[in-house]
Amino acid sequence: MYLSPSRYEELNREVADLMETYGVGRYPLDVFALAGRMGVVLRSYSSIPLAKRQAFLHASKDAFTIVPGEYEVDTTFICYNQNANKGRMKQSIAHEIAHIWLEHPSDDEPYETEAEYFDAYMLAPIPIIIKLKLASVHEVRNCFQISCEAARIALERANNRCRCGKTGFEYEYEIIGMYDQRGWLP
Ligand SMILES: [Zn+2]
Repeated sequence: MYLSPSRYEELNREVADLMETYGVGRYPLDVFALAGRMGVVLRSYSSIPLAKRQAFLHASKDAFTIVPGEYEVDTTFICYNQNANKGRMKQSIAHEIAHIWLEHPSDDEPYETEAEYFDAYMLAPIPIIIKLKLASVHEVRNCFQISCEAARIALERANNRCRCGKTGFEYEYEIIGMYDQRGWLP
């Protein structure tokens, strides 16, 4: 499904806010460190007792979130499938972080589309692709350590943005400034 243009912009801003709040901005993004700073506990499926693991795998092959109150826990947990390839695992965790940060009440639409857009933008921000002049899927993939498919989508979005003649929004310059200051960009 498609969201309204203003909602996409709000989501970009939400990513910028999240990065600023927790200050984990070095690329490739360390989603484990980010979750840790957010106070979210990460658990691999393999660390969950077998009886429960089956139910979890049934809920999602990749990852899912347990919020305080569910399963009698008082902390937010992200459970993830440690057998997925690295790029996919990273994206799954980023996706759950999106649901948590945006305080989505469920995985239903439009929340799922929002989380998908958010995780993609967070793992490979469009303004950084433009700033670094990354031109191929291979370059995007190498820079952000994401899957080929995620890199393809990120590059396409960056190219679309350039075609519209809009290379960056004000809040995105803040994101870029944050990286520049810390010497994280060439
Ligand atoms: Zn989701």
